[in-house]
Amino acid sequence: MTFCFYFRKEIMKTSLKSVAKSNLDPSDETVEVISITHWTDSLFSFQLKRPKSFRFKSGEFVLIGLRDTTETLILRAYSIASPSWDDALLFYSISVKDGPLTSILSKINPGDRVILKRKPTGTLVLDALRRGKRLFLFATGTGIAPFASIIRDPMIYENFDHIILTHTCRMKRDLAFGELVLELRKKDILLRDLDIKKLKYFPTLTREKFVNTGRITSLISSGQFFRDAGIGDFSYATDKAMVCGSMEFNKEMASILKGKGMKEGSISSPGDFVLERAFVG
Ligand SMILES: Cc1cc2nc3c(=O)[nH]c(=O)nc-3n(C[C@H](O)[C@H](O)[C@H](O)COP(=O)(O)OP(=O)(O)OC[C@H]3O[C@@H](n4cnc5c(N)ncnc54)[C@H](O)[C@@H]3O)c2cc1C
Repeated sequence: MTFCFYFRKEIMKTSLKSVAKSNLDPSDETVEVISITHWTDSLFSFQLKRPKSFRFKSGEFVLIGLRDTTETLILRAYSIASPSWDDALLFYSISVKDGPLTSILSKINPGDRVILKRKPTGTLVLDALRRGKRLFLFATGTGIAPFASIIRDPMIYENFDHIILTHTCRMKRDLAFGELVLELRKKDILLRDLDIKKLKYFPTLTREKFVNTGRITSLISSGQFFRDAGIGDFSYATDKAMVCGSMEFNKEMASILKGKGMKEGSISSPGDFVLERAFVG
């Protein structure tokens, strides 16, 4: 058992070190891990040193990766969970058993290096939305990551009168990362003169008793979401929304929002709501 653990640790060390040695595209960079936090057996977050020239918009994702023990480069999309003004890059990750990337990534330590591709992109950005009064942010699972970035961006408090963040998870412990980010906002100097209380947080759980239980899509359809949150139904004239979850969740949310007369937007053609998948599969 001890040997097995030691052996796996050595493989890990080798694969992490090998990243720095391998020939990378000149536009890529290996960056240092500053910290890693394990929230549950299958959820962790980590901070990377932000290269000085690395720019992104709050809500975008980027490719990050490692080389495995066979030197194969494994890259995956990751939403940046820190705001665009921050010195560090924060990520929030699932740990998939036998997942090519996360089975290695979940074992990184401060001082290790990971690959950061240099072209952040994505549709969960304010530029893809028309102006409005209420901004809804709908997340399931690790889909909270882009919103962790957006809710620390002064722009949303300047541009909207009300912000409603919903996060649907299975268990209470899965909400911890999102709750921490909500707390972090209170110390953000850039948000100091803004009314961050205009953000209403609506967590809901599907596998444990809680103040709100059930899938947010069901709670919206039944009207319970609006009653429990103390807000009015969607209005295409004033509401804008961002959605980040599984393919199935995004589809359901798109259908609900379209049913209210809202139009999907993109950066080239801003609209009333935008979608991003939290993962493929
Ligand atoms: C635009 C975009 C942004 C993403 N941002 C994040 C992020 O911020 N955090 C994050 O953890 N992942 C994110 N992902 C998913 C990520 O790219 C990887 O799939 C994930 O890290 C697992 O990698 P893997 O190589 O270990 O397993 P993979 O082979 O990539 O995945 C194995 C299986 O695990 C499941 N899975 C993968 N990711 C998730 C997830 N996040 N939640 C639930 N089930 C999942 C899927 O069923 C998938 O088929 C994002 C994906 C996309 C497309």
